Amino acid sequence: MTHVLLKGLTLCYEGQHTPALEAADLDIEDGKLTALLGPSGCGKTTTMKLIAGLLKPTAGDIWFDGRSVLPISAEKRKTAMVFQKHLLFPYMTVGENVAFGLKMRGIDSRLRARMATEMLDMVKLPGMEDRKPNQLSGGQQQRVALARALVIQPDVLLLDEPLSALDAHLRDEMRDLILSIQRRLGITTVLVTHDQEEAVVLADRIAVMFDGRICQYDEPAVFYDRPSSIQIARFFGARNLLSAHISDGVAETRIGRFAVQRGIVQSGRGTLTIRPEAMVIGNSGANGISARVTARIYLGTQVRVRFEVDGESLEGLFPPDVMPQVEEGKSVDLMLPPKSIWVMPGEA
Ligand code: ATP
Repeated sequence: MTHVLLKGLTLCYEGQHTPALEAADLDIEDGKLTALLGPSGCGKTTTMKLIAGLLKPTAGDIWFDGRSVLPISAEKRKTAMVFQKHLLFPYMTVGENVAFGLKMRGIDSRLRARMATEMLDMVKLPGMEDRKPNQLSGGQQQRVALARALVIQPDVLLLDEPLSALDAHLRDEMRDLILSIQRRLGITTVLVTHDQEEAVVLADRIAVMFDGRICQYDEPAVFYDRPSSIQIARFFGARNLLSAHISDGVAETRIGRFAVQRGIVQSGRGTLTIRPEAMVIGNSGANGISARVTARIYLGTQVRVRFEVDGESLEGLFPPDVMPQVEEGKSVDLMLPPKSIWVMPGEA
């Protein structure tokens, strides 16, 4: 297991004015799965390639277990990467593909074959050693790529969008497999993804990136409950964002005054947010407002309800038994519990 530390890591590609990665500090825990999450072009793959040693930073450092790895070449760094496209050698058998890294390291052929077989068992492809990659499905090929990465027992496993080329069913299967293998082996893993759900399901911690910067690094649940910015709240699906002026624990908004207990902003301008599932219907009084139902969508186990309050739209998620109370066009009492409101900097 390996503890990875990024310290002020910066990379400016040749001929570019703005860095693809700027002053990134990241403490990647030993044996855990950390996701780099963000939109296309935010610098995720660049970060990954720096950790692998495929790129040299313009500034900053990378430590594995308390020592800089910058002097160590990519081949010697003990990282293994799995890419979106699996890049298997088409002329080699599956067994040879998996054992390739071992051959490069001078491991003898019998041990190589045994280790490849063990890895193929682990990725649930027993007995596939003699097939060629083109005799496997896309999902199976991706599992071979994972086996090939794991067989060399890397210190750090780097997964670059490993699921995005797979269809929904195979993606779930591969996701479960990655999760179970990562937990079993306890290998320090960095996953690059633009899919927020994938990051939440797989990662112990998520580093959210925008424009070459790491903007928030936390456990998955924190991004829903305490996002550090409007941009992050939106990325995690926040719908209810209200510009506000905060003072003495009260947020003044266009649709009313709300008691607030939590947030980054204690006074002055900010934006409050509340998760749809935290709204309460039929509970007037403090933090209560009258809201007109504009739509209700029955989702089986929940009902999504859209409201309009003085020209602002809000959205709530409720248990199905709320259905009779939320007819379209009707007004209902809606309560925003103070403990569920979170106040962020900036204006929505
Ligand atoms: P995606 O999800 O689309 O793969 P990403 O978050 O992984 O995106 P990077 O591939 O790290 O983003 O790219 C970050 C920025 O650096 C982008 O603006 C990209 O255009 C730029 N970039 C990437 N590789 C190079 C390169 N070799 N030369 C110049 N600019 C590059």
